[in-house]
Amino acid sequence: MRGDFDRATIDAILDEGLVAHVGIVHEDGPVVIPTAYGRAGDELLLHGAIRNRVFASMAAGAEACVEVTLIDGLVLARSAFHHSVNYRSVVIYGRARVVEGVAAKTDALHTIVDRIVPGRWADVRQPNDEELAATLVLALPITEASAKVRTGPPVDDEADYALDAWAGVIPLRVEVGEPEPDPRLAAGTAVPDYAAAYSRPVRD
Ligand SMILES: Cc1cc2nc3c(=O)[nH]c(=O)nc-3n(C[C@H](O)[C@H](O)[C@H](O)COP(=O)(O)OP(=O)(O)OC[C@H]3O[C@@H](n4cnc5c(N)ncnc54)[C@H](O)[C@@H]3O)c2cc1C
Repeated sequence: MRGDFDRATIDAILDEGLVAHVGIVHEDGPVVIPTAYGRAGDELLLHGAIRNRVFASMAAGAEACVEVTLIDGLVLARSAFHHSVNYRSVVIYGRARVVEGVAAKTDALHTIVDRIVPGRWADVRQPNDEELAATLVLALPITEASAKVRTGPPVDDEADYALDAWAGVIPLRVEVGEPEPDPRLAAGTAVPDYAAAYSRPVRD
């Protein structure tokens, strides 16, 4: 297990993750929300309604702490104490800038959508001015950031290796199901390739 400030490690985790947890200290107390996100170079992109409490606070200058975690396996040790999880996670601290202007906001939303379902953006109606005006887009610098990764088998106390208890790792991964058509989908609309062949990265 190790902490890691390497940007390639951080970016790889961010690019594979689906959900970020965004925390701030709000005037009503600490608050954390799960949210989708994107990454454009050195910035993490977030979006929400302009009245979104957490994002509006960030737009007003609140410092945020954001984490993204991937779970790779459950680590079963011979002692209760040494049970663990194989994971890859990133924590970022910082203040976001508000992404302004039609082109920049549209680009950011494009990045968020296509990062999650590559190819989707070009297939759907683009946001209109009203929708863009109702949407707050934030860009958080990925500068004060760290990654932490655990891989491999359990690490037991030497004396415990003689115990009978099974020990090892139960791998976990995201499973992709068959696309389920919207009941109101126009008859004859084919499932696009990016949905039919959708996949998530598989870790060895
Ligand atoms: C996988 C995922 C992706 C999401 N992506 C986005 C996104 O990209 N943009 C976006 O704006 N929102 C997203 N959401 C919804 C987001 O978590 C918030 O619900 C939403 O942003 C409203 O936040 P708010 O601060 O305005 O909440 P408020 O309306 O102020 O929330 C009031 C209270 O409701 C409760 N609450 C709010 N959200 C949740 C929640 N998710 N789970 C449990 N309780 C909750 C909390 O107690 C909170 O204090 C996502 C949620 C999930 C689970």
